[in-house]
Amino acid sequence: MYKRVVLKLSGEFLAGESGYGIHPDTALELARSITAALEGTGVELAIVIGGGNLWRGARNGSGMDGATADYIGMLGTVMNAMALQDAMEQAGQPTRIMTAIQMAQVAEPYIRRRAMRHLEKGRVVIFGGGNGAPFFTTDTTATLRALEIGADVVLMAKNSVDGVYSSDPRKNPEATRYDHLTHAEVVAQRLEVMDATAITLCMDKGLPIIVFDIFEPGNLARLFRGERVGTLIST
Ligand code: UDP
Repeated sequence: MYKRVVLKLSGEFLAGESGYGIHPDTALELARSITAALEGTGVELAIVIGGGNLWRGARNGSGMDGATADYIGMLGTVMNAMALQDAMEQAGQPTRIMTAIQMAQVAEPYIRRRAMRHLEKGRVVIFGGGNGAPFFTTDTTATLRALEIGADVVLMAKNSVDGVYSSDPRKNPEATRYDHLTHAEVVAQRLEVMDATAITLCMDKGLPIIVFDIFEPGNLARLFRGERVGTLIST
């Protein structure tokens, strides 16, 4: 059973059917399922939320300066963090947002030891603003923060994909699902788990990753209880 985990959520999970923006009822449904799964487990939970529902940074191909585009993306993740906090607290779970870009009126700045203190007190900590640096994604944030706060695992939440497959199961019916992989296998086979910077960091530090379907009822609760769900990536 895990003591402390980092859960990586894509921004799109807040968007509802349109796939864009923040849909409060969708956020609330997600927050309720996370809160219910967490209850009574004693697991300390930190969440890293992405921003793909609002902005795609340097990848949007607009010709915009890449760093500027990425800073906009980081600000988007703070908007998502605030929406998720609101939903988590409506669901009865005390939370704190900590941002990598300071904006003291809306959230605390990220201070590692303070984040750990919040977790010890049973608060869910939501990390907003990515790493605070451009040219990264929130996958690297999940990895970096997990290493910093001594998390046991990074839980990579997926939508309707129950683990890592040899190729995209939605396009290739022959694709096979892996129960376990090493980091090196993920890198060598270029499997889509997280971006290359993030998976390399996990490999270097021996940080386990679990890829799972967060929308399959009961999955998160099983994970928090230490049961095997999805694909485990470890050394
Ligand atoms: N971003 C960044 N540095 C970071 C984290 C995020 O520049 O450390 C920017 C980047 O532009 C990225 C955007 O924020 O595209 C949103 O994050 P991400 O794409 O990881 O969100 P997700 O796809 O998980 O919703």
